[in-house]
Amino acid sequence: MTKPAVLWFRRDLRLADHPALLRAVADSPEVLALFVADDAVLVPSGAPRRVFLAGCLERLSSALGGRLLIAAGRPEQVVPAVAAAVGASAVHVSADYGPYGRRRDARVEKALAATGVELIGSGSPYAVAPGRVRKPDGSRYAVFTPYYRGWTAHGWRAPARTADPVTWLDPSSVDGPQLRSAADLGLPLDPSTTLPEPGEAAARQVWQDFLHSKDSHNHDSHNEYSDSGHSPETAAGRYGLDTYPDQRNRPDHAGTSQMSPYLKWGCIHPRTLLADLAASGSPGAASYRRELAWREFYADVVFHRPESLHTSLDPAIDRLTGDTGKTADERLAAWKAGKTGYPYIDAGMRQLLAQGWVHNRVRMGVASFLIKDLHLPWQVGAAHFMDHLVDGDYASNNHGWQWVAGSGPQAAAFYRIFNPIGQGEKFDPDGTYVRRFVPELRDIPGKAVHRPWELPGGAPADYPTPIVDHAAERTESLRRWESRARS
Ligand code: FAD
Repeated sequence: MTKPAVLWFRRDLRLADHPALLRAVADSPEVLALFVADDAVLVPSGAPRRVFLAGCLERLSSALGGRLLIAAGRPEQVVPAVAAAVGASAVHVSADYGPYGRRRDARVEKALAATGVELIGSGSPYAVAPGRVRKPDGSRYAVFTPYYRGWTAHGWRAPARTADPVTWLDPSSVDGPQLRSAADLGLPLDPSTTLPEPGEAAARQVWQDFLHSKDSHNHDSHNEYSDSGHSPETAAGRYGLDTYPDQRNRPDHAGTSQMSPYLKWGCIHPRTLLADLAASGSPGAASYRRELAWREFYADVVFHRPESLHTSLDPAIDRLTGDTGKTADERLAAWKAGKTGYPYIDAGMRQLLAQGWVHNRVRMGVASFLIKDLHLPWQVGAAHFMDHLVDGDYASNNHGWQWVAGSGPQAAAFYRIFNPIGQGEKFDPDGTYVRRFVPELRDIPGKAVHRPWELPGGAPADYPTPIVDHAAERTESLRRWESRARS
């Protein structure tokens, strides 16, 4: 008689386009679905990511007829215990290429092997597995554009076919440490925070709405981001793939896909998105594909240079003098609270608190402000983001921060410093984005909202005065950079 298989879900919380599921079903018609509540993953995740994850697991469990076993503990203990309890001959996973995932899987593989059970990896969270795209001489690509060319030339598989019918084993028959429900994984969420709808069905819906939205370029006819955040119901007022190349830099418009939380937990696979892009014939397809490639590139960088999650690829960046002491702490607190007195920066930081998500353009702006106006290390900001982002992903986040810091594989030839006012005026030209997230400034019309201190009566009394003078801090930042470069 065929022994059952275990399918251990990690960053692949879906049933469609799932190579590990296909492989498990090919092994055995009876499969136990497992998720391990691993503190190494959960503890560093803030409430938005925990709550979203819990929601994704609830949806997955429903799709499995309630037959998802959620077990708490160390994977190298839990996984072999569960495999033994159901008499499985193999445990199937989507391979993990991150530093922690690789170490964890090596431990689990060893523990399973001791009991004669195999750990079988199929697929990955990426269209092309990290480490696979190489230069003709076999070395890695250090810079995005050549990587992108190599990635495109390498290509990727078509989405995996739908698995044959499977009997999901009843988890209540398994003894051992179990959680009652996915909801137990969540953390108390600030009631004013609105998160996207979790799960595979929502991922597909959000993606389909983005793909098929045929909005015109008439900005006036569009709603801005709905106050209810990213939920699929807001899709009617959004821009779609066709306008993505023009709209992707506009935080005042819902011009990007907001697929990042779903990609983070694998509610949908990027290969599915790439296949739909290719079939779409949309003028936005190439631009969107390139953004997906950034996600793959950063995972590739981390695969080759795992230490780059914590230290700068350019060591000179980590040698820059950072501010410390009471004033630095107060400024950091103001940045976190969205009370720097720079409207565009404050809108971004308040969007982070309100939605656990921030537009890419604004992520760059607020990161630059922390590093170059407040003179704090990028690692401090990256940690705060990881605490609050619903899409928090170490590779994309920490390398996004390094990019802004001027380190990392894409460092500009010059020391780039974003102007916190100019960025707002350029990318939020009517001030809509600022008014949405900064209620103190809601009555200031048009782009004047970016410079409230220039209003005839000054800024509203309840809005802070700027905590630093950007022009002075810019000069100071360049001074530190140049002295660092000489040392
Ligand atoms: P879209 O514009 O619709 O792009 C589609 C997809 O492409 C995204 O979902 C994402 O998977 C990928 N993508 C787009 N831009 C980037 C990029 N610059 N780097 C890597 N992937 C990209 N992205 C995360 O997924 N998690 C993070 O923790 C994260 N932290 C960031 C921190 C900083 C300081 C910066 C500058 C960027 C960060 N990004 C992160 C990248 C980017 O901001 C988000 O992927 C994007 O805003 C998500 O929104 P979207 O899905 O609407 O993007």
